[in-house]
Amino acid sequence: MTQTIAVLPGDGIGPEIIAAAIKVLEALQKSFGLNVQVEQGLVGGAAIDATGYPLPPETLDLAKKADAVLLGAVGGPKWEPLPIARRPEKGLLGLRSELELFANLRPALLFSELANASTLKPEVVAGLDILIVRELTGGIYFGQPRGMRTLDNGEKQGFNTLVYSESEIERIARVAFDSAEKRDKRLCSVDKANVLEATEFWRDVVTRVSQDYPDVQLTHMYVDNAAMQLVRAPKQFDVIVTTNMFGDILSDLASQLTGSIGMLPSASLDAHNKGMYEPIHGSAPDIAGLNCANPLATILSVAMMLRYSLNQGELATAVENAVSQVLRDGLRTPDIQEEGQTAVGTREMGDAVVAALV
Ligand code: NAD
Repeated sequence: MTQTIAVLPGDGIGPEIIAAAIKVLEALQKSFGLNVQVEQGLVGGAAIDATGYPLPPETLDLAKKADAVLLGAVGGPKWEPLPIARRPEKGLLGLRSELELFANLRPALLFSELANASTLKPEVVAGLDILIVRELTGGIYFGQPRGMRTLDNGEKQGFNTLVYSESEIERIARVAFDSAEKRDKRLCSVDKANVLEATEFWRDVVTRVSQDYPDVQLTHMYVDNAAMQLVRAPKQFDVIVTTNMFGDILSDLASQLTGSIGMLPSASLDAHNKGMYEPIHGSAPDIAGLNCANPLATILSVAMMLRYSLNQGELATAVENAVSQVLRDGLRTPDIQEEGQTAVGTREMGDAVVAALV
């Protein structure tokens, strides 16, 4: 049966990195028997320019009907003057909430060839393999009420609401425990239970759910300490589960442990493993159009899509092996380039991964 992939390139470097990922998909179709149909749609600033909306109804429809969604990145200075509700990022948040993609899986895996590309000492990061499970459709990014107001004394105020219901915490905790069971069976739940009631409740619910997973060792850590520990001794972690905002910040931090934000893929899953796959980085307007963005995070997102949504684990491994191979061959985009190495462009890196597929 042909499966459909909705491909949404978005803005900035989005179209460049997606072009490299599409070449990988085409190679898998041509030579590895992958039976998929790729349909492209507009999202973010590109969609605003064409239709006035960051998430046009036809794009949402395409994403809902597809078996999986592959997204580049959205946003850029051009659309920053727009009100928040009409900015490109609303397209992304809209997709996450409309598709009920509540579980964001962000592996931070260090390819051994890149141990020197991290700003941390190689011995601190060598062998790093962390999975950050971030709650994606709740918490302070979606909580109501939110907005700007003027108080009685005339002072202006901005406000947001951090709110988590029991079912929201329980379902993300189960995804994290299930993931830990398949790995090193250690789960660290990150919160700020000493200050925020919503995350004190988070801790209570995660602790209750842990009774169903006796073989997984659960620990709790405050987010400020977690940030410090990720830089001090990141290998102490196996799986981390945390709220939407804490996960947003900690996963960007973790990306730097692996050398570059351009290396990290992500999967955002619903309750039935339908997912949206995207690199964790943004649209990088500073390098857009220069053919120097690293496409590997996007290509590794394709691997996650093959594994989690398309049930093609062997092809996922083939893609990951091809990425390892090009790194072993010494190919580097500028973000992971070390002294003495020549950098290649986005297109060349993508073509090399295709050539390395076996
Ligand atoms: P960013 O991730 O776009 O860029 C941060 C830095 O990392 C930049 O120096 C950039 O050049 C570099 N970088 C990012 N991806 C890279 C890659 N593949 N290869 C090489 N270098 C790479 O974050 P930002 O600058 O804070 O945000 C830029 C825009 O992206 C903003 O409009 C923001 O809202 C948006 N954004 C979108 C997403 C998304 O679509 N998922 C995520 C984060 C930010």
